[in-house]
Amino acid sequence: MKNYDVIVIGGGPAGMAAALKSSENGCKTVIVERNPFLGGILKQCIHNGFGLHYFGEEFTGPEYAKKFVEMIEKTKNLTIMTNTFVTNIDGTNVDITSQNGVDRLCGKALVLAMGCRERTAGNILLNGTRPAGIYTAGEAQRMVNILGKMPGKEIVILGSGDIGLIMARRLTLQGAKVKAVMEINPTTSGLRRNIVQCLDDYNIPLMLQTSIFEVLGDGRVEGIKYGKVDDRYNRIPSTTKTLKCDTIILSVGLVPETDLVDLPLNRVTKSVMVNDYLETANDGVFACGNFLHVHDLVDNVSLEGAAAGINASEYAKGKLSKGKVYSLTPDGVISYVIPNTVHSGEGEIEIRFRIRARIEKSNYVIEDESGNQIMKKYVMAAMPGEMQTIKLKRDLIKSNLTLKVVKL
Ligand SMILES: Cc1cc2nc3c(=O)[nH]c(=O)nc-3n(C[C@H](O)[C@H](O)[C@H](O)COP(=O)(O)OP(=O)(O)OC[C@H]3O[C@@H](n4cnc5c(N)ncnc54)[C@H](O)[C@@H]3O)c2cc1C
Repeated sequence: MKNYDVIVIGGGPAGMAAALKSSENGCKTVIVERNPFLGGILKQCIHNGFGLHYFGEEFTGPEYAKKFVEMIEKTKNLTIMTNTFVTNIDGTNVDITSQNGVDRLCGKALVLAMGCRERTAGNILLNGTRPAGIYTAGEAQRMVNILGKMPGKEIVILGSGDIGLIMARRLTLQGAKVKAVMEINPTTSGLRRNIVQCLDDYNIPLMLQTSIFEVLGDGRVEGIKYGKVDDRYNRIPSTTKTLKCDTIILSVGLVPETDLVDLPLNRVTKSVMVNDYLETANDGVFACGNFLHVHDLVDNVSLEGAAAGINASEYAKGKLSKGKVYSLTPDGVISYVIPNTVHSGEGEIEIRFRIRARIEKSNYVIEDESGNQIMKKYVMAAMPGEMQTIKLKRDLIKSNLTLKVVKL
């Protein structure tokens, strides 16, 4: 058994930022990572576009991870345990398994930064035979960027999440023919910049309100039957067409790695609920990064991880004092909001949320229980794929709050 002030599970950008801040704040900290290396999913994201907000410089994923690893290696008070799997969480303590056997780490505070995993063909009940040639976008990304292998030659991508869009470009650059990206929703779930830079620049067609009706092929994917869906996702059989391909890549969403936690989950984020200190319903247990909700930019992951690390270390020192607690509820077109509860007091809260449908010329408004607007922010236009952020001063919080969109 080993004792620490703060234990961080997960050595991705969220966990690394949390552990750095915790140790800089004087706490004896450990990062537990199941992979042989730190960096999380960033290791396989070899394109650029990382770090502009956090470091003011543009990096590839591995370069961004290396920046953090270098800072971590110079930090005192910080132990790195790689090749170590957390198998159980008990309050702020964890059980681990590694080549050295099983052990228990006891912490005064715990940070959950386990990231998320991809939804698979089974998760979306993809219809048809079960041939080889169906991959998730992350699997394909790992194959091409780490193993140096191509998943196929004629490719259809189902889902327009950012990883799928980035893989459309990557596979095209490596010589594959990406025949289409099909999205069941009327809007894409990826960032606008990725639609332009990864699809439009390479003339890859984006088919909205379109889905795969059936996978064709015995040993290997030979093609698909696809077609249009209506606003309720019902297939429109008269629109059915056949398309030849040897590979299907799925970019149909990420699910937080919550198997180890025994806490109520939010219906939309599929993860734990937190207060404005990123603390879960279990005292001293904090959450951040993709484990808490799927982020579009790694810079926001690091910022959230850093905040969780500071709060966890303050808790470990017995210094995290909180005011009165109130709820913060999303309304209308807002699909979810983090945090779920907020405290009155001093300082500012970073509120992150997503919308369900495209909006234009509107205000994000926070209302108190009497319907008074205590904060508003103008938004010219926003899409469901883009994470939204607003700030709220704690001294304005005096009752339960609602976050909504008011069209101007
Ligand atoms: C396949 C994939 C590809 C992506 N590609 C991009 C991209 O190209 N560009 C982009 O901006 N964003 C990309 N993202 C989004 C990306 O996940 C986030 O930007 C960011 O990496 C999330 O950081 P994180 O630290 O929250 O999670 P992660 O980077 O996923 O790190 C979580 C870490 O926790 C570890 N872990 C989990 N469970 C345990 C356990 N029980 N014990 C020990 N360790 C554990 C995992 O091994 C992992 O290293 C991608 C996401 C995925 C899933």
